[in-house]
Amino acid sequence: MDVLTKDLLVNFLLMILPLLFIQIVYFYSYHNRLQNKEGRLAAIFPAISILLCLSFPFTINEGFLWDLRAVPIVLGTLYGGYPMGIFLTIVALIIRALLGGDGVLISTITLLLIWILYFIFMKRFQRSHIPGKILIGTSLVSFLVICNLALSYFIFDVLMPIDVWITFTIINVTGLVIALILWEIIRTNFLILNDLIRAEKMSVVSHLAASISHEVRNPLTVCRGFIQMALQDGRADQNQRYYLDTAIKEIDHATDIINDYLTFAKPATEQYTVIHIHDEITHSVKVLQPLANMNTVHISVKNHLHNDAMLKAERKQFQQCLINIFKNGIEAMSDGGTLTITLSQHLLGCTITVEDEGYGMTEEEVNRLGEPYFSTKEKGTGLGLMVSYSIVKAIGGSIKVFSSKNQGTRFEITLPVHRE
Ligand code: ADP
Ligand code: MG
Repeated sequence: MDVLTKDLLVNFLLMILPLLFIQIVYFYSYHNRLQNKEGRLAAIFPAISILLCLSFPFTINEGFLWDLRAVPIVLGTLYGGYPMGIFLTIVALIIRALLGGDGVLISTITLLLIWILYFIFMKRFQRSHIPGKILIGTSLVSFLVICNLALSYFIFDVLMPIDVWITFTIINVTGLVIALILWEIIRTNFLILNDLIRAEKMSVVSHLAASISHEVRNPLTVCRGFIQMALQDGRADQNQRYYLDTAIKEIDHATDIINDYLTFAKPATEQYTVIHIHDEITHSVKVLQPLANMNTVHISVKNHLHNDAMLKAERKQFQQCLINIFKNGIEAMSDGGTLTITLSQHLLGCTITVEDEGYGMTEEEVNRLGEPYFSTKEKGTGLGLMVSYSIVKAIGGSIKVFSSKNQGTRFEITLPVHRE
């Protein structure tokens, strides 16, 4: 192997090394529920790659450095977006300027020129699957490399042998393909791990639900009955009535939790019937009216559904699902406000939009919705939304949540409409 290839392979190793640390970023972002920000965080490592590449280049002509920096610059920008692109371009330019030589001018021109291509291809890259990403990535790297070589020739008359041109371009392109695939593998592994942890938690919950809930509910009902009898007996004094009332309240609370568990554990698809969506909404709103009055919340229902908009679902479960979501909205507005429920129909089904003016959630909180036991309330169970999500999923619908802190929250439940 000639010296050039050897040098470039060392460079290649240095370029790829920081990429392996990206796993740390993914882990960190999972741990802190920053699922949407890892792209920005992960792009810090290309900066280290650029530094390492530029520290060990190979030189044929004085003042010109040949290395694989194009790969981390292009990949980092494409994955990290424009702000990271600006950051990486500046890092590359500063380090290159510190090293000096005629090559600085060439680097500056090419690194600025390639921004035209970033503007054209960035969006497309982020939407593409792996083959598309490889195609865009290799084109951009080839552009950088060939521009560098050509400008060195035209401006400074630096002519490299044709076989060096070819080796250099091939190693750059190969470097990009390998780095890109590695990045994708790391990302996919992490997404799978994420799902696995979630699935594990869910299965623990449903096992618990099935085995314990039933056994506990019956004795609780008996207890409640006897306490009720003691109350109605009339012999209890003021204090004792208070004790008994509190006992009943707490038993009801416990029963609520168990009911949540049971609806979660039993998907019961075989009991599906065809139900009127608007009727179920009206019923659920009626159930929650006392709670709304207590919180001075006004519930406004806007129905834009066709008269015959039906849904195939289990009535009680569907009501439970709606009640959980409405209830959260009302609870979020402890100082009053309006809960707006809008029903709209479109080609693929119908959408129930539930909008409150409450305290809202941070991005991290939104990402955790539907996770068992996630609750920010003092007396919350963190089971309500888990139940709602699993019911909607069983019906074949989906839920989207939009929220910002202190501004309110919007739940969009999309459901398939049943057709005869
Ligand atoms: P719980 O209501 O028992 O806390 P849920 O599963 O119903 O459990 O809700 C989980 C968490 O999601 C709540 O504790 C709250 O932090 C958040 N949340 C849900 N809906 C809303 C909403 N409309 N506004 C603000 N926060 C909400
Ligand atoms: Mg709730």
